[in-house]
Amino acid sequence: MSKRAHNFCAGPAALPTAVLERAQAEMLDWNGLGVSVMEMSHRSDEYVAIAEKAERDFRDLLSVPSDYKVLFLQGGASQQFAEVALNLLPEDGVADYIDTGIWSRKAIDEARRYGAVNVAASAKPYDYFAIPGQNEWKLSANAAYVHYASNETIGGLQFDWVPQTGDVPLVVDMSSDILSRPVDVSQYGLIYAGAQKNIGPSGLVVVAIREDLLGRARSVCPTMLNYKTSADNGSMYNTPATYSWYLSGLVFEWLKEQGGVEAMEKRNRAKKDLLYKAIDASDFYTNPIQLANRSWMNIPFRLADEKLDKAFLAGADARGLLNLKGHRSVGGMRASIYNATGLDAVEALIAYMAEFEKEHA
Ligand SMILES: *Cc1c(COP(=O)(O)O)cnc(C)c1O
Repeated sequence: MSKRAHNFCAGPAALPTAVLERAQAEMLDWNGLGVSVMEMSHRSDEYVAIAEKAERDFRDLLSVPSDYKVLFLQGGASQQFAEVALNLLPEDGVADYIDTGIWSRKAIDEARRYGAVNVAASAKPYDYFAIPGQNEWKLSANAAYVHYASNETIGGLQFDWVPQTGDVPLVVDMSSDILSRPVDVSQYGLIYAGAQKNIGPSGLVVVAIREDLLGRARSVCPTMLNYKTSADNGSMYNTPATYSWYLSGLVFEWLKEQGGVEAMEKRNRAKKDLLYKAIDASDFYTNPIQLANRSWMNIPFRLADEKLDKAFLAGADARGLLNLKGHRSVGGMRASIYNATGLDAVEALIAYMAEFEKEHA
């Protein structure tokens, strides 16, 4: 057995060891076929079965209604920033965006290249430590859609509620909290999630789109970025990211074996409760986010003296607690604790934090 570290990376993030072992076992010879999944035609019966099973399991996990298409696309979540606008924002229309941090702002900047964007609400007045309630939002009368990010991976800020937009389609960047707990897909027009946080390898992005939103793309929209092209071709208009799709399918199977998103919610709640409790109980570590908006997945924290950051990270590395350095724009530390990061990893981190505090406080 090779040694597996406790990996707190924000993304590409830890994958379940059981999934990697299965991929390893199937690497050279998938199911007696004598070839790797990487070497199969995406049009072959075998690969199509792999792809369809992944989609079925994803649909099962989130109870995706039958009038939604599930797409396995490329370009990551960042490509969706443009794709959403090119498909859903008419040239003379306006889209409402909610600014809660770096990722939602990137989506805003990209959408502005294609049309009018109304930033209907911003967490800026709260220093990005809290999400403004919908009573503070200034939504447009005729928005083509409302876009928000359910979890800000860098700031550690997460919605604990779903915006209510009536007939206006709700579009969400769910990259860093999809499959971490149940969601009611029917409340959304479109959900997208880059795979490398809670789904699988990077480069892939999974999209769930309500069928009535297909076929609205602008004429200049590249064929490859038109949701209808992808939907009509089963996400195989061109060669899809076959291996990433397969590996994501293994993660979905693993999630089902673990008890699905309900079980994940329980486990994730226990993990984040434990870590926030440890942070709040100490005068040495702090997290600035308003309690209700604290992320379950990405937990930034600061040490009492940032001159100790280097020593903290070095000690963590020596104990196999990896990738705790905060995003360069925020500083401090960040522990990302997605589905594949177990309670044991969180416990090991907390034990180290207590030890470090004792030595340095
Ligand atoms: C990581 C992340 C992205 C960017 O994903 P890429 O696949 O690198 O484009 C976008 N939004 C959120 C919320 C993220 O966490």
